[in-house]
Amino acid sequence: MTRKVPLLLEGEFRQSATQDWIDVTDPTSQQVIWQAPAATEDEVNRAVAAAKAAFEEWREVPTPERARLMLRYQHLLKEHHDELGELVSQETGKTVADAKGDVWRGIEVVEQAANVSALMMGETVENVARGVDTHSWIQPLGVCAGITPFNFPAMIPLWMYPMAIACGNAFVLKPSEQDPMTPVRLAELFIEAGAPKNLLQVIHGRKEQVDQLITHPDVKAVSFVGSVPVGQHIYRTATDNMKRAQCFAGAKNHMVIMPDANPKSVVNQLVGASVGAAGQRCMAISVAVFVGSAKDMIPDLHKALAAVNPGHYSNTDAAYGPQISPQAKQRVLKFIEAGKKEGAECLLDGSDCSVADYPDGNWVGPTLFRGVTPEMSIYKEEIFGPVLCCAEVETLADAIELVNNNPYGNGTSIFTNSGAAARKYQHEVEVGQVGINIPIPVPLPFFSFTGWKGSFYGDLHAYGKQAVRFYTETKTVTSRWPEEDLVAEANMTITLK
Ligand code: NAD
Repeated sequence: MTRKVPLLLEGEFRQSATQDWIDVTDPTSQQVIWQAPAATEDEVNRAVAAAKAAFEEWREVPTPERARLMLRYQHLLKEHHDELGELVSQETGKTVADAKGDVWRGIEVVEQAANVSALMMGETVENVARGVDTHSWIQPLGVCAGITPFNFPAMIPLWMYPMAIACGNAFVLKPSEQDPMTPVRLAELFIEAGAPKNLLQVIHGRKEQVDQLITHPDVKAVSFVGSVPVGQHIYRTATDNMKRAQCFAGAKNHMVIMPDANPKSVVNQLVGASVGAAGQRCMAISVAVFVGSAKDMIPDLHKALAAVNPGHYSNTDAAYGPQISPQAKQRVLKFIEAGKKEGAECLLDGSDCSVADYPDGNWVGPTLFRGVTPEMSIYKEEIFGPVLCCAEVETLADAIELVNNNPYGNGTSIFTNSGAAARKYQHEVEVGQVGINIPIPVPLPFFSFTGWKGSFYGDLHAYGKQAVRFYTETKTVTSRWPEEDLVAEANMTITLK
């Protein structure tokens, strides 16, 4: 019998009472590996109620104690790093190295959450008026909810609940139904690290369960990572229901290549950044913008991409894995066809791709388009596959205009040897995360993950100081202790003696 993915509900890993089970398949073979429940309405309500009750106790736990939980959790996650990586590979088809990277980036956020006491310091000013002082406290919100995507089943849940819980909140997580076992394993380790049982609840499902969570009156804040239409729906619904929301959405990330850039480095970095992880990264480079004579690097890029092969994660030579589902693969193939019809030159077509021994995997080979222009659908939309579009412009100013006119703003990079070009780019580009000779500039967790424009709906971003602000309220206290009272108190003490 296929293994059922448990809920973490009311402190126990338990089987859902639902009749509605979602098949979770191995994307290299289509074999059903386990089934995830679409949690019942009652289960979602019980998860929020249990989290709410846990919050009332947890908010009183001293911050150093909360930090110690995160230290123990970090230690356990490191001990189980390889095992977690293998689970990620099994559910997503990612190469083992890539899957371990997913886990590691999550561990780094837990490390940051262990720093919570310093992050929750408020501010003070003495003598805001004569004998009057003001100070501020940072206090938790209550029950927070998180909805996560398939492409980083370890890292993105770990972006959310460790920071929220370290700040004194309780959390309800609804992971992607396409790879729900990794977050369950992360939750098991959290309990093993000594987390009070009801602080974290994990429920599974799809739109119905998400909508119930984001409209629930006891949920105070909603964190979401996923596609644009779902992000817009969640942001509108959560804020209409008077909740705080942060929604990280899709992307179209450009790498600008100046003529003075090191060609070898450009080609090496661009290959990994575009087709690595089968292009299923929100920070993948999907558009390469060649400025002037930099376009002479395209033939070498073509050659390098043609030598890259997807494969099964058990094969250490595989450069990347499959698309997550047959539907995701079909979507990528549709874009490749559209690109050809719209007049882009397809230098490399990965539509017809197979991997020995895995005929049913959702494979797409590396695909390279040249002559891509802004009206084409392959430029406008997020493809989320191993497809790289090349555009050519005359000047750096043209490149900046192209990038700034794109509705997305998650990440971008410039490759150049000129400090002046790099300075101009980092200053003028309207994108939230910029790399200079670094293709995928994901900030470490002491900074925040700062996507802009159509890649993010909200105000405060994930992890770092911004996450602490997102998961807390600031209370400002102004106090006056008249000295006459001190004298009166002293007299009273004497009289009492
Ligand atoms: P998705 O939007 O399909 O699903 C994300 C989550 O939303 C899942 O838990 C899913 O169950 C839920 N969901 C799906 N449809 C829903 C609906 N109609 N109403 C309510 N909830 C719904 O995204 P995905 O395919 O799992 O992930 C890939 C997407 O995530 C890409 O667009 C990628 O760019 C984006 N992403 C963005 C970032 C970022 O930081 N900006 C990071 C990772 C992934």
